[in-house]
Amino acid sequence: MSSNHAGAPDAAHLACFADTYAAARAKFQLAAVEAGGVITSYVHPDAQGPDGGSLAIEVAAFGPIDAARALLIVSGTHGAEGYTGSAAQVALARSGALGQLDRDTRVLLVHALNPYGFAHGTRTTEHNVDLNRNFVDFAARLPSNPAYLELHEQICPRDWDEATRAATDHAIEAWIASHGAKAWLDSSMKGQYDEPTGLNFGGRAPEWSNRTLQQILARELPALQRLAFIDWHTGLGQPGQPFFLCFNEPGSAHWERACAWWGRERVANEVGFEGGQRPPYNGLVFYGVRDLVAPAQLTGAVIEFGTGPIKASFDQLRADRWLRFGDVPDDPALVARMRAQIRAMFTPTDDGWRSGVIEHALQIQQQALHGLAQWTA
Ligand SMILES: [Zn+2]
Repeated sequence: MSSNHAGAPDAAHLACFADTYAAARAKFQLAAVEAGGVITSYVHPDAQGPDGGSLAIEVAAFGPIDAARALLIVSGTHGAEGYTGSAAQVALARSGALGQLDRDTRVLLVHALNPYGFAHGTRTTEHNVDLNRNFVDFAARLPSNPAYLELHEQICPRDWDEATRAATDHAIEAWIASHGAKAWLDSSMKGQYDEPTGLNFGGRAPEWSNRTLQQILARELPALQRLAFIDWHTGLGQPGQPFFLCFNEPGSAHWERACAWWGRERVANEVGFEGGQRPPYNGLVFYGVRDLVAPAQLTGAVIEFGTGPIKASFDQLRADRWLRFGDVPDDPALVARMRAQIRAMFTPTDDGWRSGVIEHALQIQQQALHGLAQWTA
């Protein structure tokens, strides 16, 4: 494995990234097979890629199926962020680490959990569901978010011209001035279950990706007792730096374990919200996996790589949503330009960024494997 830190970008790290969903899928399959993994494809029953190609969640499994310990690594929960998580998985497979697992240890790489979003370069699923808000109990009363409803038309205007953007930004700033930055962060990020065309819509039922993940966990980890979990994302945090969102209870044994694996200063850090407090997210994949594997224990984190200021990435999410539901003019060049900007926001093209995040990702994945081996009580 390379130990190239601040210097020139590492060509092997850069080569882990693909340019399309189909290429990422092929690269993942090849790297996993070459590392000795067993691949299962869960093909989407009715959605296709923009080129008409098939969509699938691919699972690569390493180690015995009856292992009591496992490391689960997910990429592409948010489609436009999929390239980086995919590259992190490919880098791990190519590192050789999966060919020398400890006894009683299994590794599951789940590639493109939201293949529709990955292939189309959009955050959400084929139903505009934010998969990372979809793991709630749909039989119970769904979480309410009245502040989002108040703001929906400003966040998601029908037009996206300069005048509309200025006017809606102004209205949002006025709302923040009277309600506070914390209320804004919460209402705009924690999830909402009322506006199917809005941002952070958690859905009205479990998505295909959600149901498929349930199937994967039941089938692939039948003897599980201890699970280490990483869900790769991009967008929050300092550019190129990992930003940890551990959703284990702060202060619990699991939280302490995550601190021991990855460093307390990282796990207990709020810098990714530009100093603000983390919103009370609903329906995370993290919570879904934790509940699905119980009574097995889970220690893990959503791990982001920063790409730019929150305001800039939030505006790209608004643009992404507008391209699907707004009054979009018949202007293919405009659409292509906007899609490229969204993609660059969540998967920066800069070689230094890409090389650096793969360096971090390799280390973080190794730390989880190492921690898993030490996890006894
Ligand atoms: Zn994300």
